[in-house]
Amino acid sequence: MEAAKKLSAQLAELGVKPEDIKAMAVSHTHPDHIGNVEMFPNTMLYVQKAEYDWPQPLGLGRFKPEHPVTKLEGDKDVFGDGSLTLISTPGHTPGHQSLLVKLPKTGAILLSGDAVHFKENWDNRRIPSGNTDQSATVASMQKMADILAKEHGQLWINHDKAQSATLKYSPAFYE
Ligand SMILES: [Zn+2]
Repeated sequence: MEAAKKLSAQLAELGVKPEDIKAMAVSHTHPDHIGNVEMFPNTMLYVQKAEYDWPQPLGLGRFKPEHPVTKLEGDKDVFGDGSLTLISTPGHTPGHQSLLVKLPKTGAILLSGDAVHFKENWDNRRIPSGNTDQSATVASMQKMADILAKEHGQLWINHDKAQSATLKYSPAFYE
């Protein structure tokens, strides 16, 4: 969970200021997934209602009450053109969501947050320890598998070190 280059430095490298960002989403509210939210105090935050309403995991504060938010109840085609779709994938936490990204050259990528945590869990349909709901986890894995099959997509697993080592990082990008 170490970032060699902080998000602020990555944005600066691209000439993007935090106030230029109009929309953001979090997969879920564990501390290693929401640490930068308040760097964007005026940016619309897309989060599942079940996650937003989940009482204080780990006893830590999460979002400022005044932060603009859209509380989702299920999947959301963010721009209405299918390019970015938030996919409800509960199980790791009550309102975990993934992000389906469709790129012209690369094709579909499913950014899965902590939905499966590690590749071995995905390969064996194993429920990661610490998940809040086992049956929801199984259903979410099936939903993800169906989407990947339909879209001929790649699954990106954020905490999988071996896979992460093969990916490009900012300022490199996928087309
Ligand atoms: Zn997590």
